Amino acid sequence: MNLTDPSLLRSRCYVHGHWISADSGAFVPVINPATGEEIARVPALGAIETRRAIDAAAGAFAAWRQRTARERAGFLKRWHRLILDNQEDLARVLTLENGKPLTEARGEVEYGAEFIEWFAEEAVRAYGETIPSPWSDRRIVTIKQPVGVCAAITPWNFPLAMVTRKCAAALAAGCTVIVKPALETPLTALALAELADRAGIPPGVLNIVTGPAEDIGREFTAHPKIGKLSFTGSTEVGRQLMAHAASTLKRVALELGGNAPFIVFADADPEEAVSGAISAKFRNGGQSCVAANRFLVEEGIHLTFMQRLAERIAALHVGPGWEEGVSVGPLIHSRAVEKIEVLIAEAVAKGAEIIIGGKRHVLGGNFFEPTLITGVRPTMRLFNEEIFGPVAAVTMFRDEAEAIALANATDYGLAAYFYTQDLKRAWRMAEALECGMVGINVGRVSTTVAPFGGLKHSGFGREGSHYGLEEYLEVKYLCFGV
Ligand code: NAP
Repeated sequence: MNLTDPSLLRSRCYVHGHWISADSGAFVPVINPATGEEIARVPALGAIETRRAIDAAAGAFAAWRQRTARERAGFLKRWHRLILDNQEDLARVLTLENGKPLTEARGEVEYGAEFIEWFAEEAVRAYGETIPSPWSDRRIVTIKQPVGVCAAITPWNFPLAMVTRKCAAALAAGCTVIVKPALETPLTALALAELADRAGIPPGVLNIVTGPAEDIGREFTAHPKIGKLSFTGSTEVGRQLMAHAASTLKRVALELGGNAPFIVFADADPEEAVSGAISAKFRNGGQSCVAANRFLVEEGIHLTFMQRLAERIAALHVGPGWEEGVSVGPLIHSRAVEKIEVLIAEAVAKGAEIIIGGKRHVLGGNFFEPTLITGVRPTMRLFNEEIFGPVAAVTMFRDEAEAIALANATDYGLAAYFYTQDLKRAWRMAEALECGMVGINVGRVSTTVAPFGGLKHSGFGREGSHYGLEEYLEVKYLCFGV
């Protein structure tokens, strides 16, 4: 792998400042999605080891919360610095286990590190309030306190940023954390733990466990010492976790799947719309919850948009993420490839037309051709399900009312994008779209400083921004008799 610092490649779990294996000695392999080869093996921890990790986090909580916010920020800033110092190595590990192009992986390291810096700076601003009292002999104030021990479950598509987006906010607030990264991409999370260790973050404050998701998830949702569970992943698993967490009435934050519309009105600048489309669709090979899933294009610009988009898609370079000039890597596993094949076949059988791509790439394995397909209708699975791959599915519409109806005709509500030069329409659309984030004449919205999250079946809770810190804080009301 050619790491400058090979000791970043950790293949044991990080609990209470120690690197541990499963009691049984069992492990699970980590597979390179570009080659199908085994990269490493990580422990298959079960319920007992997870309980130990929760106890470690619970034991560390009292001392961590009592540190001043400034002190906690100091640890976070050291962690942030170490991540940036090791950006290239982290990017290589990330590309190896996730498959994304190295340039994107470098970008994710930077983006992920930013959450740590941001929350280090926010930690010192967790202000309470004084509230004008309705009584002359009493005074009312609120204070903010950490939620407690938090559990985090993260997906494989952003193996670094999804960990830091949760952990940085939790640690800044004074919480301690146990993270379960996705089985496909645990090495990035373990490398982050190695750097947290070097940053001096005390034992038990940050813990990483790997292993069978259901066993670990059960402990996270049932254990009385866990105050909050933050999950990023599929809607189906989010629903299960919420149901299980109900038994212990935990706070739950769910960042779930999406089905983002990308709407192009006839008055849009076609060049800008096409560039936005490429960014919104093909980043991480389309394996992003905020990826444009349905292109809704007004009749008057349909031909121009399709021609230019087809040209840009044809120029995308598919290959292993570590190769120079690659813009689209492999899909994460063969199940993802098979799912896309099924969605495309069903759409074509119902009348959709493939303009470009539409099949497995000649490189074989998990590689799929960047695809443009038109004539997609709301009755097709391609319209209704999260594609999670490099497939741009286009539906034509006639007017604004139809665009809104189509855009909102989904259970999901994470992101939406639209292109128009009409200011009044921009406001109308922004207000009418049922989702948590809207890109207006831009194809990318994620940033540390803005609230990330969704509505409807895309979940609830916000990450990043000052709202992200609130998610890990309780408000306590104090009433003083004077
Ligand atoms: P997934 O199957 O739900 O997996 C996500 C995480 O949940 C993984 O760590 C997985 O562990 C774990 N998990 C799976 N089953 C579980 C169970 N029964 N109990 C506890 N944990 C369980 O999702 P995915 O298909 O890998 O990830 C892609 C999904 O994430 C997409 O729907 C995408 O839209 C969504 N996502 C949302 C956001 C957002 O912020 N809204 C961001 C990124 C991704 P294993 O890997 O060990 O199975």
